[in-house]
Amino acid sequence: PRLINQIAAGEIIERPASMLKELIENALDAGATAIDVDVDNAGVKRLKISDNGHGILRQDLAMALSRHATSKIQDLQDLEQIATLGFRGEALPSIASVTRMTIQSRERGAEQGWMVSSDGNNLTTEPTPVAHPVGTTIETRDLFYNTPARRKFLRTDATEFKHLDQIVRRMALSRFDVAFKLSHNGKVVLHLPSVPADDPRRLKMVCGDNVPENSVYFTEQREDMRLSGWAGLPSFSRSQADMQYFFLNGRLIRDKTIVHAVRLGYQDVLFHGRHPVYVLYLEMDPARVDVNVHPTKHEVRFRESGAVHSFVFRSLQRVMSSSAG
Ligand code: ADP
Ligand code: MG
Repeated sequence: PRLINQIAAGEIIERPASMLKELIENALDAGATAIDVDVDNAGVKRLKISDNGHGILRQDLAMALSRHATSKIQDLQDLEQIATLGFRGEALPSIASVTRMTIQSRERGAEQGWMVSSDGNNLTTEPTPVAHPVGTTIETRDLFYNTPARRKFLRTDATEFKHLDQIVRRMALSRFDVAFKLSHNGKVVLHLPSVPADDPRRLKMVCGDNVPENSVYFTEQREDMRLSGWAGLPSFSRSQADMQYFFLNGRLIRDKTIVHAVRLGYQDVLFHGRHPVYVLYLEMDPARVDVNVHPTKHEVRFRESGAVHSFVFRSLQRVMSSSAG
């Protein structure tokens, strides 16, 4: 119980996009290189996600639906070095509790797949054999069918779908090497093949016209920190900070230290009041950062924030002086 209390309190599923974010994170944690999302009525009626990750063992299928049963955190030591996007073991149970869910999965090396179904956390079937390639397919139906009060807060399909689309795009920005596909009401709306990390095509397909033509891809390394990504040059700065993405070990974060460091890196080249456009990736030892600050995991705490700040600042400054100068 002590350990459970140390894990920042549970997120709540408030709309299809919050489900999808968790489900995509799980697929990425399972090592998927292709993720296929297929929804009807913006995921409220039906949301299906298939991945080619390592799959779930037959004996773990039922457990995946019970809260904290699968928590990757065995002790406080683990809590200090989280390398996966998920770790609390509560997303799947939370989603299951407000939908009718079917999980089909085939573990790498297993001869066949297995399937379980549930209705709002009540397992309705024992695992039954099913034909399925290696990987996992999770399908949810009738979001909030058993919690009408929460259903009332859902917006129109168009709005909910916009949120879904944003989640897929954001995840697709975090991992160029993973292929993503999104279909809505039987129509493919986004199809992103896997590309190398420095391939601007993914950036273009995800961000469209928001991509600065002259953004440069760079990589900077210092000891155990690596910063890479796309830094828009000042002529493509914007009056709004709507094209600023910073991923820490694959996770999108909003961090004051980082925002400040990036701004500082741009200060010599940026007109006053303009916002730089960037998509940046920082990789570092997970033990040196605490992601367990907030349930959405968008906030982090760096153990040595001074070192991170100066590395990010100097990297950007170097990139700017070599490409703008
Ligand atoms: P976590 O916080 O560990 O991500 P979740 O509730 O999101 O917890 O998922 C529970 C567990 O179910 C995961 O830890 C993982 O072992 C398993 N799991 C969920 N989705 C998948 C998937 N797509 N592929 C393989 N395993 C999965
Ligand atoms: Mg998860």
